[in-house]
Parts: sequence; C-alpha cells; structure tokens
Amino acid sequence: MEILQNIPITIDRQVLFAQAHIRPESEDDRILSELIAAIEPGIRPKAIYQRAYIDGKDEQGVTIAGKRFTSAVLSVNLAQIERVFPFIATCGVEVEELTRPHTDLLHQYVLDLLKEQVLRAAIAHLLDCVRTRHAPGQIAIMNPGSLADWPLTEQRPLFALFGDVKRLIGVELTDSFLMSPVKSVSGIIFPTHASFENCQLCPREVCPNRRAPYNQTLAEEKYHLSM
Ligand code: SF4
Repeated sequence: MEILQNIPITIDRQVLFAQAHIRPESEDDRILSELIAAIEPGIRPKAIYQRAYIDGKDEQGVTIAGKRFTSAVLSVNLAQIERVFPFIATCGVEVEELTRPHTDLLHQYVLDLLKEQVLRAAIAHLLDCVRTRHAPGQIAIMNPGSLADWPLTEQRPLFALFGDVKRLIGVELTDSFLMSPVKSVSGIIFPTHASFENCQLCPREVCPNRRAPYNQTLAEEKYHLSM
C-alpha cells in the first residue's frame, strides 16, 4: 500500500477566475486572490493506492485481494489481466477546513472549483506514480457509482481493501457511500489494450463532465448492457 502525501500543487487562478467569469481587476478578483493566497500554503492533497491481484472472476464480477466486486463491466475489463491498482484520492481535509468558513455564494463556487483543481492534481500525481513505479502500459479507470452496473455501494469493498482510510488520508465513507471530503474520488486503475471511459457506457444525455460519447453498440455487444 502506498500513501502519497507530498503532492505538488499550484493553484491556477487564471483558470479558476475564467471558469467563474470573474473580471480581472474587479473587487471579486482582489478578494478571491487574497483568499486563495492565504489558503494555498495549507492545501494537502493526498492519495492512497495498492498493487493488488485478482483472485477470482466470473460473469458477475471479480474478487480482488479477497474482496468481492460485483460488476459485469468490471469483469469484462479485467478478463485478461491479473494485476490492478485500487485507489482513493482527495483534495484533503485541510483545504476543506480552510474553505468551510466562506459562505458567500460566489466565493463558495470558486473555492469548490479550487478543490476540484486540487483533486485533479492528486489524481495526476497518482497516475504518474503508478506509471513510473509499475509500468502498467496503457491504463484505464473505473469508479464505483459511475455506472448503474457498478453502484456506489461498491465503495464498501473498495474502502475495505485499505482499512482505516480516514486515519490514512482523512477520507471517510458516509452512510450513503459518498465520500467526505466531497472532492475525493475512488476507483480501480487497470492495464488495458483498448481505451476505456465509463462515459462510453453512460447514456446520460446532459453531463458537463462527459469525457467520451456514449457508445450503444459497445455497451450492448462487448458489455452486454441493455438500456
Ligand atoms: S457521462 Fe457524466 S455521469 Fe456519465 S459516466 Fe461520464 S461523467 Fe459520469
């Protein structure tokens, strides 16, 4: 098990302010610039991952390091491989605490974007570490809760792989299987020959985060999903 704590992070204010439509030299620009400058030194993104081996597979799911995961899509994606990298990444409890007192709606929105930026940096660092240390070749990621086939309840076995995740990196699983801090993400990184995105199998019509078009043929023919 690897814990990644010293993750380099530089907040890109220009990107944040452009996303929030904050005009340069405006009062909001000044206030938020000061706020971010005060918060930035305390930000501590973190990630945890492990190299794990698949113990068993069937059409309904896979067993990884003794934990059962029920997902036909995961089973298809892991059919030809034995080694995977379960992970949890987070913006960190520190930035959550530092941003909590700010109740102004615009400030909250910008600070939420900031935490997303921090989380993306944590994920990028995690992927770099996996690539550098384990040379898995081309990789893809599945996340519990992204598809109906692999629901959010599957966070339970994923967290169980790591033990006391709150003590290790500060991330808690709530009763509804969401994570706290909210800007956290969990999943399984796996080697693949064919590129894969959860979004290819997700028919949701309006999603601002879509990374690939929905592919009904792929969903039906390779993954045997009926919508
Ligand atoms: S389209 Fe949106 S909701 Fe569907 S898997 Fe992609 S990011 Fe998630």
